[in-house]
Amino acid sequence: MATATSTPTTDRLSSYNPATGEVVGTVAVHTPAEVDAAVARARVAAQAWGALSFEARGEELTAFRKAIAAHADELAELLHRENGKPELEAYVEVMMALGHVQHAAARAESAMAPKKVSAGMLANFRATISYHPLGVVGVIGPWNYPLYTPMGSIAYALAAGNAVVFKPSELTPLVAVKLAEIAAKTFALPNLLQVVTGAGATGAALAKSAVNKIAFTGSAGTGKRVMMAAAERLTPVLLELGGKDPMIVADDADLEKAAEACVYGALTNAGQACISVERVYVADAVHDRFVDEVVKQVRALKVGGDDGDLGAMTSTAQVAIVKDHLEDAIAKGAKVLTGGPGAISGNYIQPTVLTEVDHRMKVMSDETFGPVIPIKRVDSLDEAVKLANDSTYGLGSTVFAGKAARSIAARLRAGMTSVNSVMGFAGIPSLPFGGIGDSGFGRIHGDEGIREFTRVKSTAEQVMSIPMNMMSFRQPKDMTKRLKGMIKQLYGDGVIAKAGDLFRRLR
Ligand code: NDP
Repeated sequence: MATATSTPTTDRLSSYNPATGEVVGTVAVHTPAEVDAAVARARVAAQAWGALSFEARGEELTAFRKAIAAHADELAELLHRENGKPELEAYVEVMMALGHVQHAAARAESAMAPKKVSAGMLANFRATISYHPLGVVGVIGPWNYPLYTPMGSIAYALAAGNAVVFKPSELTPLVAVKLAEIAAKTFALPNLLQVVTGAGATGAALAKSAVNKIAFTGSAGTGKRVMMAAAERLTPVLLELGGKDPMIVADDADLEKAAEACVYGALTNAGQACISVERVYVADAVHDRFVDEVVKQVRALKVGGDDGDLGAMTSTAQVAIVKDHLEDAIAKGAKVLTGGPGAISGNYIQPTVLTEVDHRMKVMSDETFGPVIPIKRVDSLDEAVKLANDSTYGLGSTVFAGKAARSIAARLRAGMTSVNSVMGFAGIPSLPFGGIGDSGFGRIHGDEGIREFTRVKSTAEQVMSIPMNMMSFRQPKDMTKRLKGMIKQLYGDGVIAKAGDLFRRLR
């Protein structure tokens, strides 16, 4: 989606600093033909890269990681200027992206190791599952975490033996261009990681191209368009589509820690995170104390400036969404304890705490993607779980509780849950990351994130001949009769089936 802060021209696109309105730089607007050409070049690179050993790919990825680390200052500066996030958060993003390059490189061989599985009834067979690179992976990235989020696909796709064509958001293209420059200088193979730039049309061209998989991060609406475009070639898609993450605070939670986690989880990156805490359910007995603590901590935060805790919102379009959600909530009876729609100035939004909220309000049902903390009082943990699960989204979630913490976590309908911490799952590279429902499907990170960029191959190898061969027309005359007996014996209530059931129960 084009936004008010970007101006595509016929052949160049400008990237603006949302804090100052200054142009940070310009990039090319790649046409569909140029996207197709990039995919064709990537195909050549993929063939050579996919044929390398894990060790050789691991060495190249380690060199890539070191090169990114060597350019951390430039990358953080670009993240700060293009996205509007404070410098500290920009460095955190670079560090987290590096963690994934390291993890993916280290885990690829093990995650893709062939597996021998039971051949079942065909005991004379050797059955194996093996994992192979797909070829070329198209990555369409968002503007909120322009390096970390796409790296969750890029690093894992590369480690699995694929080449990548990456289309960044038109709001944050320069970070991606820098990453491609680093890749071009580091990898021995040309065109292993290419970047194509432009607005939505360039992304649409990538989704329609001959890539073997599309990994998309962004809104549910655009995700559906990407999936429809990919359907033309039956290209598989991985969709990471944001969420409306709930946080539950029980009456035996450590309230100060819960408030600290809530404030950080809702306000980091000015609330523009797919796993932001977007709604909070607090047990009646501790509601007022929790709210007071949250308001106290929020009021101590600084918005804007070099040492600010919250930076500028990345786009004016996003500011408008947040303002709309706040006005809708207030019109329906929400109470503003700090911040509010009157505390918005240009691309800066003062963090806002709301109480007296309910699920009729957009702020409790739609993705706000801004620095807003709506807090709802609940009478019981059952009510908290019911309300937390009352969403079409299902990405992350947070539980602060004492003895019931794990059981609450298990009942949450979400791809990920952090218990007595916030966003913990995003900091652990071995945990798969992704959601359900409107939050999308497929997983980045972890071993699942590596196998997401592979094709699964099943091999059945007959290792010895047996007299009865089911895969043949040459059967004895009484075969039908024998089969009838076998069905009863193996799967009905015959002696063999009963013994098998007993054995399985005992295991
Ligand atoms: P989009 O979903 O439109 O953008 C995500 C990516 O998709 C960008 O690279 C964008 O490119 C690209 N894109 C846009 N149109 C197409 C298309 N037709 N085919 C292929 N790619 C396309 O995000 P918005 O900027 O519209 O953000 C709106 C909302 O999405 C936010 O309010 C937030 O709720 C959610 N969001 C969630 C994110 C997450 O982390 N899950 C990240 C970003 C947004 P370009 O920018 O050049 O248009």
